[in-house]
Amino acid sequence: MSAELAGLYGGTFDPIHQGHLAPVEQIAAQIGLEQVVLMPCHIPPHRQSPAVDSTHRLAMVKLAAAAYPRFRVSDWEISRQAPSYTVDTLHHLCQTWPDKHWYVFIGMDSLLSFHRWHRYQDILTMANLVVALRPGAFIEAAEAEITRLLAEHQVEDIDALKHSKAGAIYLAENELQDVSATELRQQLQAGNTSHPMLNADVSRYIAHNGLYQTTPQA
Ligand code: ATP
Repeated sequence: MSAELAGLYGGTFDPIHQGHLAPVEQIAAQIGLEQVVLMPCHIPPHRQSPAVDSTHRLAMVKLAAAAYPRFRVSDWEISRQAPSYTVDTLHHLCQTWPDKHWYVFIGMDSLLSFHRWHRYQDILTMANLVVALRPGAFIEAAEAEITRLLAEHQVEDIDALKHSKAGAIYLAENELQDVSATELRQQLQAGNTSHPMLNADVSRYIAHNGLYQTTPQA
């Protein structure tokens, strides 16, 4: 029996939008992943604190994920009151489901700083890395560490990716989704609670709870 292929997609999701979900759904379908675990982080180690608390971000991720049968939502990082490191989360997932092959999804902007992630080499011993194209982030801007990592780990062929248990990096060619959470927060703060890239239930949740109305604390 072949191994089950599963994805892990972490982020602040502040708020979650189509630019997060559409590329990952498109690529996950191409690889044939049975499920993708969405993992909102509690305290992101690499950036400033989220604008709204983790309970709201988790609720919005659940609402947005409901439109996609492949997506599951986990509160594992949020329930741990500690900085969220992908390497720890992946270790937990690999121990819980030892028979699955894991694919970690990130956007191109995240790949450009991947060599600063905590124990990033260990991530590649446990999973494959799948990189979604994102407007404004270009592989040409990669620093030497990332170029070296790609020379060692990149696979061009999706079939090679499908059969890799760990250690492959795949640069996907998904459709671009020109939206960012930063831009959405600015629009929400200006009072525009609906946006074509926001799921309607998420928009209603934001309006109902009065989220993103004030300038976030740095
Ligand atoms: P901001 O847009 O404010 O910079 P963010 O969406 O990048 O925030 P996260 O929620 O932590 O912050 O992002 C989770 C993942 O989603 C990251 O790997 C990021 O690269 C990816 N991502 C975010 N927006 C897009 C997009 N429009 N297209 C592709 N990937 C994206």
